[in-house]
Amino acid sequence: MSRRFYFAAGSQDLYGDTCLEHVADHARKIVEAFNGCGNIPYEIVYKPTLLTSDGIRRFFSEANDDPGCYGTILWMHTFSPAKAWIPGLKIARKPILHLHTQFNEALPFSTIDMDFMNENQSAHGDREFGYIMTRMGIPREIVVGHWSHEAVQKRIASWMATAVGIVDTDKVRVVRIADNMRDVADTEGDKVDAALTFGWTIDAYPVNDIVKYVDDVSPAETRELTDEYYSKYTILLEGRDPAEFRRHVEVQAGIEIGFERFLREKGYNAIVTHFGDLGGLKQLPGLAIQRLMEKGYGFGAEGDWKTAAMVALMKMMTGNKGTSFFEDYTYNLVPGAEAILEAHMLEVCPTVADGDIAIKVQPLSMGSREDPARLVYTCRTGKAIAVSLVDMGSRCRLIINDVECLPVPENMPRLPVATAYWRPEPDLATGAEAWIRAGGCHHTSFSYNLTSHQMKAWADAMGIESLIIDKDTRIDDFCDKIRLNEVFYR
Ligand code: MN
Repeated sequence: MSRRFYFAAGSQDLYGDTCLEHVADHARKIVEAFNGCGNIPYEIVYKPTLLTSDGIRRFFSEANDDPGCYGTILWMHTFSPAKAWIPGLKIARKPILHLHTQFNEALPFSTIDMDFMNENQSAHGDREFGYIMTRMGIPREIVVGHWSHEAVQKRIASWMATAVGIVDTDKVRVVRIADNMRDVADTEGDKVDAALTFGWTIDAYPVNDIVKYVDDVSPAETRELTDEYYSKYTILLEGRDPAEFRRHVEVQAGIEIGFERFLREKGYNAIVTHFGDLGGLKQLPGLAIQRLMEKGYGFGAEGDWKTAAMVALMKMMTGNKGTSFFEDYTYNLVPGAEAILEAHMLEVCPTVADGDIAIKVQPLSMGSREDPARLVYTCRTGKAIAVSLVDMGSRCRLIINDVECLPVPENMPRLPVATAYWRPEPDLATGAEAWIRAGGCHHTSFSYNLTSHQMKAWADAMGIESLIIDKDTRIDDFCDKIRLNEVFYR
């Protein structure tokens, strides 16, 4: 389904036809420029200037009812008395971006007169509009600047990803084929609250329900997918017998096909597994889960449905680019070179890979099944975010850490898992302390293609607390923020 965003200028009928024609013409030109600029990923649809309370209410009603509409972009070209917006804003359900711009970039100092002033008065028209949304407590994005500027267009594009997360959050559907790992606390959560707050569906099935789908995969299908693996990935036998190696890989091919069939048939887009609850599966799903994540499915290990849902959501927001499940595993604490080695037992998404992907077959140190095949690689360098959604008992908190993915200083030939290697902002000591003080989980949903601001805006729209850990974080201020939030979000 194609996604679109409505654009409307606000005004009133006090200005006369000529002025209103200019308003409409300017709005149309801005929409044309946005749609042609190459910086904005979704179509923007021009809507006629909003002048009356009834027209405004109908505009929001149309946006609500259009399943392809992911948000509204609003700009008060002139002055639009804000009480007229109340009935519409009361029913508005799609994300709002308040574009605080004006048609002209430069002030025409030598020719400016009162007609020009009255026609181009967003500086105060948008303040009147902003007041009513602030008074009504409506979460929205505000973008300030000339519409032709790349920075403005890129901020609109960035908000669009957030809008996708806000509108599509109720499409997140997680299959649990295992409960949370015994005694583990930070991956737990209230599934009724998740349905109420985020619109998520979290359903459990006995693991052997999905195993049936795996068992029903034909040998020919398994062979065909295994051939695809062998043509696509480097095979690292590491002394294993080639025929035995291939048999292990075939097990994962069968799991991928069976799992995907189950997920498709029942309409789920995320899954959790648990190494200790595998029913009739011959191996812990490793390569199979990595491939499913690559196709856009969310994943959380050891029953972690919150992270699975966040990975699915962030894959929707990014168009499934550069987004994975991770676990904070082990540290390098050498002064000046501090970083976290991120991995999991197996399940890291190939959309974060840098360069070659290889298949290895290795024993697991946990669980009781045969050696699983898995994809192995390192991740790209660059800026990214690590996100954790934790349940504080009566509510959820979203923790977002800016991180910098670094090259691994040396090869790790004995490590049979995909890894990332990052330094949390502002530095490892502060970043890790802030994360731990906030109650951040040991699993994360990770993305190169989202920013802390986008995730915070999503959290605001969900009405939940968010805490950002970035280059400006100081521990004492951060602890005060946690305390203040305890009051605001209870
Ligand atoms: Mn884990």
